Amino acid sequence: VIEVSHLYKAYQTAAGPFPVLKDVNLRINQGEYVAIMGPSGSGKSTFMNILGCLDMPTSGTYVLDGHAVAGMEANAVAGVRNQTIGFVFQGFNLLARSSLLDNVALPLVYSRIEKAERHARAKVLLEKVGLGRHLHSHPNQISGGQQQRVAIARALVNNPRLILADEPTGNLDSVTSEEIMALFGQLNKEGITIVLVTHEHDIADHAKRQVRFLDGEIVQDTLSAAVPVDGVAQ
Ligand code: ATP
Ligand code: MG
Repeated sequence: VIEVSHLYKAYQTAAGPFPVLKDVNLRINQGEYVAIMGPSGSGKSTFMNILGCLDMPTSGTYVLDGHAVAGMEANAVAGVRNQTIGFVFQGFNLLARSSLLDNVALPLVYSRIEKAERHARAKVLLEKVGLGRHLHSHPNQISGGQQQRVAIARALVNNPRLILADEPTGNLDSVTSEEIMALFGQLNKEGITIVLVTHEHDIADHAKRQVRFLDGEIVQDTLSAAVPVDGVAQ
């Protein structure tokens, strides 16, 4: 589903180009569950933004579900993104003045689906994440963990094959984090590919594969660690 080759990213700053990703190569197949780890500033969010088609690499190729995204025209990229990806971020980004139902249904507004149908789909997803009793509540009336579950329901509303989550448990206590991770585990069992960024080993252990960034490079991948290098098992 994801194939990244010789990816470089430099941000333009007043002091000139600032390199952040340096020759990143990674292949993630449909149905995988990958944790991205690494210190602050190592390029994890930059990488996730590129995977999510929110940003473009400076050079290198990115193929998402067979589409060569780098170099594609913006509208076409948006189309691929909306069909393929659900995003979950640390800050939830919920609309405070809207009901949970409207929050989850929001992405469907852009896809010419009638309101009754939008709400019907949002209801099914809120029930799936255990919030069926709170359809008409507002975000400030529920807990942080419940808000994160609303964000996950919203990420699922377009039936994505891929979920990208950047520190999805960053604001949550450990019990609530485990609940969120159980939900990701269930979605992965249903066949959705999950790539999540976390600082915490307990969280990363839920994933089947761990990839570690350091200074913009991948320095460890538990998948390739199992493959013999120079004929010698590592
Ligand atoms: P954290 O764990 O703190 O979230 P990260 O691994 O996600 O860190 P990034 O956000 O990808 O790190 O940032 C990598 C580097 O790129 C940092 O040095 C950061 O300051 C820099 N950077 C990020 N965004 C920009 C930007 N828009 N312009 C310039 N530099 C940026
Ligand atoms: Mg980050």
